[in-house]
Amino acid sequence: MRGLLIGRMQPFHFGHLQVIKSILEEVDELIIGVGSAQLSHSLKDPFTAGERVMMLTKALSENAIAASRYYIIPIQDIECNSVWVSHIKMLTPPFERVYSGNPLVQRLFKEERFQVTSPPLYYRDKLSGTKIRNRMLNAEDWEELVPDSVVMVIKEIEGVERLRHLSKKEIIE
Ligand code: NAD
Repeated sequence: MRGLLIGRMQPFHFGHLQVIKSILEEVDELIIGVGSAQLSHSLKDPFTAGERVMMLTKALSENAIAASRYYIIPIQDIECNSVWVSHIKMLTPPFERVYSGNPLVQRLFKEERFQVTSPPLYYRDKLSGTKIRNRMLNAEDWEELVPDSVVMVIKEIEGVERLRHLSKKEIIE
């Protein structure tokens, strides 16, 4: 049995990690789709697909999850929701089960007759990409919400500086 989890992972955090660990107890292999792969350098989507692949690869390795158990695949958005599932099938190994808490994702896969499961949310009051990005902007402790390897990637790419720069109002001279 092969499963699919798709998320923007902006950034990858302990909620994503926990959900991946629990899905891997149910499936043999997991496809991890890095969604909205074309987006980066905005307040909602600051990190490139390549940077998010680095976060995932290093965090899964740090947590001793065997690389033979998963595939990390960047997936760009497309205009037409009605053919999005086919677009994903074109890019990924075959899969039977989909894990997502996102109602649109659930709907699109259910209509194509996939098994769809809504995984439990872990500490959603803290573990959400939006809250982590806000902590980065407000110089609050965001490091406690992501694996150490993700902290290192974000430091390497100067991700917090990028986010703060993007949040600045235009300076008119
Ligand atoms: P996300 O990163 O917010 O979440 C991904 C998944 O991670 C969630 O469904 C949930 O299962 C899990 N998760 C998140 N926080 C968690 C926590 N605290 N505890 C446990 N699990 C947690 O991503 P998302 O917004 O759901 O990603 C959907 C992607 O699909 C987006 O990139 C979107 O653009 C894309 N999409 C594209 C189209 C199209 O191109 N037409 C259509 C639908 C969706």
